[in-house]
Amino acid sequence: MVPKERIAENYQRIQDRIAQACVRSRREPREVRLVAVTKSEDVDSITALLELGHADLGESRAQDFIPKYEQVGAWFAERQRLNMPAAPPRWHMIGHLQRNKVKPILQKVCMIHSVDSLRLAEEINTNAARQGLNDKVQVLLEVNTSEEKEKYGLAVGAVLPLAEIVRELPNLEIVGLMTMAPQTNDKEISRFCFVRLRELFEELRGKNIGGPGFRHLSMGMSQDYDIAVEEGATLVRVGSALFA
Ligand SMILES: *Cc1c(COP(=O)(O)O)cnc(C)c1O
Repeated sequence: MVPKERIAENYQRIQDRIAQACVRSRREPREVRLVAVTKSEDVDSITALLELGHADLGESRAQDFIPKYEQVGAWFAERQRLNMPAAPPRWHMIGHLQRNKVKPILQKVCMIHSVDSLRLAEEINTNAARQGLNDKVQVLLEVNTSEEKEKYGLAVGAVLPLAEIVRELPNLEIVGLMTMAPQTNDKEISRFCFVRLRELFEELRGKNIGGPGFRHLSMGMSQDYDIAVEEGATLVRVGSALFA
């Protein structure tokens, strides 16, 4: 496990860099939410963040997420029982989601960032109805802005046609778009992908996709979250820089 003090230092540094990127781009820091990506972390590292008051956590594999969800939930319940401060965990599904994993995760996450097909959207819609959820499931459409063949995500040109169908599904709400820039040290390549996502977002908004709830750009990871904030990210997904 990474020592708690390290996590606290990293956390502060990342929040500072987000705030600086907001100043450069004349944005309000409260418009940007850090999602701490815990897919490679143990429960102790995750609870260290909750102790710092940080709530938003991101996981990419349903199989690994479910046991962590249970363990972190039990930890939080115990903290509450003892009247000790901690943020209540708020989980985001950020990775590729297989349809047979929709059912077990649906009530455990606040948002699914990685909807990349009609079949997955329909599966979410059907399960939400079956499970009798009161609120619509919040989803983002994942876009392959870098056009890398091995990447998940919709081709840029496929997003609008899909969104027009998905918005008719009664039990989910499209709240934004998500992308991953390529693994690169070239920040301008990352920026290109983020600008592309933002432009697509503006186009969809112009067509009234999602309505007022359509407000999120999930983009930026450890290597490029500051660039993503400059280009309009509302959710940045940071893992390794937080737990290094
Ligand atoms: C792992 C992962 C991240 C975080 O990546 P880091 O480089 O560790 O910050 C962000 N988004 C997704 C979808 C991921 O799978």
